[in-house]
Amino acid sequence: MKAKYTLPRGTYDILPQESWKWKIIKTAFQKTASLFSYQEIVTPIFEQAALFERSVGDTSDIIQKEMYKFEDKKGRQFALRPEGTASVVRSVVEHNLLQQEQQQKLYYMGPMFRYDRPQKGRYRQFYQYGIELLGSNHPYYDAEVVAFADLFLRKLGLRNFQLEINSIGCNNCSQDFDKALIEYFLPHEKLLCQDCRLRLNKNPKRILDCKVPSCKKIAQEAPSMLDYLDSECATHFKKVQEYLNTLEIPYIVNPKIVRGLDYYTQTAFEFTDSNLGAQSTLIGGGRYNKLVSELGGKDVAGIGFAGGFERLLLSLESEKLLSREAYDLDIFVVIAGENLELHAIELIHFLRKNSFSTDFAFEKKSVRAQMKAADKSNAKYVLLLGEEELKEDKIVVRKLQSGVQTTLAKNNLISFLRNDESR
Ligand code: AMP
Repeated sequence: MKAKYTLPRGTYDILPQESWKWKIIKTAFQKTASLFSYQEIVTPIFEQAALFERSVGDTSDIIQKEMYKFEDKKGRQFALRPEGTASVVRSVVEHNLLQQEQQQKLYYMGPMFRYDRPQKGRYRQFYQYGIELLGSNHPYYDAEVVAFADLFLRKLGLRNFQLEINSIGCNNCSQDFDKALIEYFLPHEKLLCQDCRLRLNKNPKRILDCKVPSCKKIAQEAPSMLDYLDSECATHFKKVQEYLNTLEIPYIVNPKIVRGLDYYTQTAFEFTDSNLGAQSTLIGGGRYNKLVSELGGKDVAGIGFAGGFERLLLSLESEKLLSREAYDLDIFVVIAGENLELHAIELIHFLRKNSFSTDFAFEKKSVRAQMKAADKSNAKYVLLLGEEELKEDKIVVRKLQSGVQTTLAKNNLISFLRNDESR
């Protein structure tokens, strides 16, 4: 049957047969967050459009071409969030969180929206996980944020990823660097893509990040930001590298990493998986020391990263690192006879109250059909309830995979299951 309504382009459903994969990522991310002492923050999916225009920057691709912007019934301009950092910082400033604690370590997960050409690893609605550390400019935290991302990927089993880091300096260093870039690119202007020609005047650093092959080729010989860092930024970057060495986190310095958003200063980094093809960045992040004050808060530094669930899944799948838990359910109850229905209902609720996940095929009458449903459920045990057993207050417990079964007094059921679980 042909569906009457279909998914918007660039979006997808996470179907039940796939959702367990998402759960693995979510759980690993939450576990890593607690290891590093980060708290969850949840912000709305839409915000005032100006929040993103101001922070992400109006020369960025996100603002120029990709933002889902709309007017509400009262003529106010809103946007579906294209990324998480601006919203988190808005929330921290709005609720004065930095007044209460000098430092905030926050994590988030949720959908983001960008109107881009969909392709493998790139969607219009995609899911990001991310962290933000607000309130310190200490280079140790740059390394710690990188270490968080590194440990998260490793806990999932990934090894074949690369970490590239750079420093894009501060406004002070940028002035001379931008001049040098303009001088370098101007003679090649005609060969640059249309976007880069605009970037040349407004934000020449972005040309370094352009993925168009002709621009990439020209950018190969461009000046390096690392030669233009002032002493403060150079020392900061050196310290970050020292801490990364201490943490034994492998990296390479890549002066071409500039990140696409306006708010970045100093450290910028990317975790990439070259097996992913064109969309190879798993995680991108960096320091943003001016963003909090730009959004009306105190002059406070920040650093963070964000990664996409979709690309991470592609990486994990290609390395065969995703495996489903052995069982989806603890117990499936099967009854021999319709008159046992009420006993089954009672038993199921009793088991659930005792924290055993339990299911029952209410509308399947024959034992055969119920057993089929039990097989499909991928439960660890089947509890068989028959007239004979009931009379004696007994129950049959069968291990679904091996078929081994025992008959137990009902009173001993919970202790049997608990002991069997821990074995
Ligand atoms: P960004 O916010 O652009 O720095 O992106 C951070 C990470 O989010 C990327 O490394 C990707 O893993 C993911 N990401 C960004 N845009 C998309 C998209 N359109 N579709 C899927 N994942 C994305």
